[in-house]
Amino acid sequence: MDSSAYLRSHIRTVPDWPAPGVQFRDITPLLQDPKVFRVLIDTFVHRYMDKHLRPDVVAGLDARGFIIGSVLAYELGVGFVPIRKKGKLPFTTVEETYELEYGSATVELHTDAVRPGDRVLLVDDLIATGGTMMAGKRLLEKLGAQVMEGAAIVDLPELQGSRRLREGGLALFTLVDFS
Ligand code: 5GP
Repeated sequence: MDSSAYLRSHIRTVPDWPAPGVQFRDITPLLQDPKVFRVLIDTFVHRYMDKHLRPDVVAGLDARGFIIGSVLAYELGVGFVPIRKKGKLPFTTVEETYELEYGSATVELHTDAVRPGDRVLLVDDLIATGGTMMAGKRLLEKLGAQVMEGAAIVDLPELQGSRRLREGGLALFTLVDFS
């Protein structure tokens, strides 16, 4: 089994959660098994250790992006910064609001989280509509950083988020597709 199929086989699909009709892709079984967790992190480490792709900073999206992003940053020997849902960060922030299916969401980043010119790797667990990752990219760019790539475990290509993100100029690296 290749590593993508191996990782895929450890993602659980939960029907009708958090709302009827949604097939939630649950990554917790993947984190729970130490061998699979290691394959996951090593796959990202292998890519981003490359001298052309090594970031200055890893930014993780609230909340599952923190799990992967912080371990990855540690392994790469670079800093980690959290992009959080509004109201959680204590220092001065920049913020970005984006549309959800029903309503909107706001994410924040500390104003001193990155420096102008920093090459940032943006990490989350999953890309659906792409709204969350696009908001993260805009936040980092507000502070003058350059988002070199977005990385996620799962892409849901039918929701067109990854296509929109790439068309918006963001390179992406994802490991497993679900349609
Ligand atoms: P988007 O903004 O791309 O529509 O949604 C992606 C965000 O919602 C990510 O932060 C991700 O954690 C969360 N998300 C949406 N659907 C799922 C899902 O099926 N599984 C998981 N693990 N996260 C999801």
